[in-house]
Amino acid sequence: MRVLKFGGTSVGSAERMHALVNLISDSTPKIVVLSAMSGTTNNLVEIAAALYAKDNNKANNLIDVLENKYKEVIKQLYKTGAALKKGEELIHSHFNYLRSFTMDMFTVNEERAILAQGELLSTAMFHYYLEEIGTASVLLPALNFMRIDENEEPDMKYIEQNAKAELAKYPNTKLFITQGYICRNAFGEIDNLKRGGSDYTATILGAAIQSDEIQIWTDIDGMHNNDPRIVDKTHPIAELSFDEAAELAYFGAKILHPTCILPAQMRNIPVRLLNTMQPEAKGTVISSKTTGDNVKAVAAKDGITAIKIKSGRMLLAYGFLRAVFEIFERYKTPIDMITTSEVAVSLTIDNTKNLDAIMQELKEFCSVEVDNDLTIVCIVGNFAAEKQGYAFKIFDALKHIPIRMISYGGSEHNVSILVDSKLKKDTLVALNNGLF
Ligand code: ADP
Ligand code: ASP
Ligand code: MG
Repeated sequence: MRVLKFGGTSVGSAERMHALVNLISDSTPKIVVLSAMSGTTNNLVEIAAALYAKDNNKANNLIDVLENKYKEVIKQLYKTGAALKKGEELIHSHFNYLRSFTMDMFTVNEERAILAQGELLSTAMFHYYLEEIGTASVLLPALNFMRIDENEEPDMKYIEQNAKAELAKYPNTKLFITQGYICRNAFGEIDNLKRGGSDYTATILGAAIQSDEIQIWTDIDGMHNNDPRIVDKTHPIAELSFDEAAELAYFGAKILHPTCILPAQMRNIPVRLLNTMQPEAKGTVISSKTTGDNVKAVAAKDGITAIKIKSGRMLLAYGFLRAVFEIFERYKTPIDMITTSEVAVSLTIDNTKNLDAIMQELKEFCSVEVDNDLTIVCIVGNFAAEKQGYAFKIFDALKHIPIRMISYGGSEHNVSILVDSKLKKDTLVALNNGLF
């Protein structure tokens, strides 16, 4: 059984949904994971924000505009009166559900229920289309098997058991359709795997059912060596190791959800990145194989905060780092980069939800400075310790860029630097010119 995930643009119009059928119509058994149509989740975020602000007029207007868009899509999607009628009923029920929130109290739970509507709509619409053209498929409700635990991590045991049980109900079915992104949380409420989470659904599900390959279909021909939205000349990378791909995803390569590589890596399932607009392109294969000994790619992650922590009275004492790290652990705040000197440690975080409380505790035993609006630029490749010249090439390319922090030697395939976000573009372009 294969898992194939199609992102927002791949289901972004009636025309794209029609074209999708050609990519899934061979006889290999498969689970097709779909995102919401492109733009929908952003629209749902806006609707939820209006409801939070108790601006019901605005919310209703946004809901009307989105509903009209869907009404147009189904007119082009279906040919028969019967399918169109089902589509109309589907849209009616989901949009009336959205309208029901304008009357009630609005909390984070209601927001999550709203955000789930995009994937529920796209999968049902596509399933009805398959039905209309006579292609047998089963719509699997992701909310029956996708679950995160109290730490917001995928509950792999539960998912494995329940996904297998759902599939076992349809022993003769070759084609399953399910929702990306959405799940239940430890309290059984509707939740999600964070933005871009459909990739994560695909790899979690692929790992749970021991899929032989996970395919992520999107609007570009694989992982590029640099951010194509920022740098002009980029090219696709044919092969990446799990570690390399995980670093690029975590450090900002938007083509993959930040943590989606891990489930595939744990079960050693290759992940193939493919382009729905250009299905014949080779794309990128991510596997346990490490190839080449050069710099492969660069990615950038914005919204980074740096914290400089200087030990006061505890100069050189052991336990200083432990005391610092314990505070971040207690507030469930991951640290991305870290550098140390004898008396100080600088580190970066991207989740600032608990920053004030963290600062207060740190200030009890050290002096602390905080710096915002920073970007981590991550350079990924094979930097085996015995090879010379990589560091020189990187820093030579960046000689005109003020660098705030450097992390080198933590692993053999990652060099990270921290720069002011205003310099992100310059940094990515300079690395492109100097390294590739
Ligand atoms: P989907 O909706 O299919 O999940 P995304 O928009 O989430 O698609 O991801 C694909 C986009 O990621 C591409 O269109 C591209 O602009 C962007 N991107 C950013 N960095 C990279 C990279 N290094 N390689 C390929 N694409 C990248
Ligand atoms: N629809 C969700 C989002 O826009 C999930 C995804 O597309 O992967 O973030
Ligand atoms: Mg995506």
